[in-house]
Amino acid sequence: MTHTNFTVKYSDVINYYLKKTDQMKNFNDTNQKEKDGCGSCYSIGCGSCNSAVTKTDNHTPTLFTRRDFGLTVLTASAGALLAGCGKAAKPVETAKAVATRPDSTSVPMDPNLAVVKQSKGPIMTVLSEFYKMGPGPSSSHTMGPMRITYDFFQRLTKLPEDQLKRATAVKVHLFGSLSATGKGHGTDRASLAGLLGKAPAECPPQFLDELAANPDKSYKLTLGPKTLDLTLKDIIFDATKGDFHHPNTMTCVLLAGSETLYELEYYSVGGGFIEWKGYVAPEKGQPKYPFAHANELKKFIIDDHIPLGKLLLENEMAISGKSEKDIWELLDQVTEVMLRGVDTGLTVESILPGPIKLHSKALAMQQLLKHSTKGEAGKAITRVASYGFAMGEENARGHIIVTAPTAGSAGIIPAVLKSLRDLKTPTEKIREGFLAAAAIGYLCKHNATLSGAEGGCQAEVGVGSSMGAAMIAQALGEGPKVVSNAAESALEAHLGMTCDPVAGYVQVPCIERCAYGAVKAWTAYCIASEEVPTERRVDLDTTIAAMALTAKEMNSKYKETSEGGLAVSVVLC
Ligand code: SF4
Repeated sequence: MTHTNFTVKYSDVINYYLKKTDQMKNFNDTNQKEKDGCGSCYSIGCGSCNSAVTKTDNHTPTLFTRRDFGLTVLTASAGALLAGCGKAAKPVETAKAVATRPDSTSVPMDPNLAVVKQSKGPIMTVLSEFYKMGPGPSSSHTMGPMRITYDFFQRLTKLPEDQLKRATAVKVHLFGSLSATGKGHGTDRASLAGLLGKAPAECPPQFLDELAANPDKSYKLTLGPKTLDLTLKDIIFDATKGDFHHPNTMTCVLLAGSETLYELEYYSVGGGFIEWKGYVAPEKGQPKYPFAHANELKKFIIDDHIPLGKLLLENEMAISGKSEKDIWELLDQVTEVMLRGVDTGLTVESILPGPIKLHSKALAMQQLLKHSTKGEAGKAITRVASYGFAMGEENARGHIIVTAPTAGSAGIIPAVLKSLRDLKTPTEKIREGFLAAAAIGYLCKHNATLSGAEGGCQAEVGVGSSMGAAMIAQALGEGPKVVSNAAESALEAHLGMTCDPVAGYVQVPCIERCAYGAVKAWTAYCIASEEVPTERRVDLDTTIAAMALTAKEMNSKYKETSEGGLAVSVVLC
């Protein structure tokens, strides 16, 4: 395949994206009309009454036929799909399963960790656990450690007074990947902030900036009758290699001189989720429609005619015990935080913290757009990319972000959200999009991983882009097959992507990958919404299983250790 051919085909995709953009301007008007069909669709075109087929036909671009388009795109970007054999796929083997094999090339995870055991039953993750708000730049290395030390702080406040009276110090030891790349992620300042009683979702970013700017400054921690002085030096970068239960292990210790009064070992298991030694997952309700894989989800939708949005909402209510109103309020808050982050990022120009001296780009891209001569295709891509840069740069500044699925990939969904807002997508469709995106994230968490330290960047930016593609498809009223295909397409495009942050900072390649992740989400949606949905050769479960296997076989140098790839190729001076 020549470079010229690829360019032509890719521009076809972009043309189609632009056409879709025009179509969306009429979305509000046509929404109700297209919802007609069997009348049971919660979202447009559940596929049970052929309304989805009619709708797809109506949206076929006039530039070329749908079949031509599918062949063109698939030939240009995924020729291997056309060469697939007709044999049934092997049973799914999850990352959790393969990671516990003795021949694993990375730090194997303890099979007793809840994150490993939970992969056996139905998905039980809920939105408040998934879309977490707090400081960047890393969900596993900043938000997770801060949640850990905040948890430890709360435990300390409950210790008996006579024990607290004897306390002389609190120490936090970072191990494995947390120690190897923690400096660049701001693990120490986030850990200290949590230890000082700052809740991750509420901590002002200025406080974190102050901690970083004053490494020797001492802060008071009052625990009942005792007040201790803490500094950043109490957060210790300990062994990077060892026999840990998880790649991101840390211990928190309350000391009386050299005597340990209270100690707990914690694990930051990815996406801001945390566990500790002896952790038992909290009691939850049972999902109304239990599923662990996309194919089980599909059965409810196709066989039982349950629309995807309705199914996901009712599961969320059943598992979390929250009302529909509570759930929409949470998603509206997530929307607000994301849009605020993008809007802030589009107005600030700065050199980002750390040794790379990376200049922010979002504002410059927005300004250049006003005088751009790139044509509509170039402008559309630049606009979406600038949104990804804006939120990625806010994350790098350590400001408040939402994990989606992680902090390193936190620029993708806000960029997708902002572009959907540009198209005047109704709020209720955006909420449904968030549900669909979360479902993709849940499937990847359950059957593979969301952690760069376990699976490389495919697990963060790859999953974020896949979620974004599903969000676009769901919000724009596509049927479940297109939603699933869009998610599959985006994830497939990221398989094998390594995690190699330069100098351990979530900046290079992370920020630019957020921009690409958002653009690829749109590309995946454009492909999936125009091909014949049933002709896609690879399903979502298969690609998630491939990601899990790739994660297992990926050399540990490329799993957030800063020992390979760009981290060792880029010379900083
Ligand atoms: S390279 Fe990817 S996985 Fe690694 S820190 Fe950056 S965004 Fe996360």
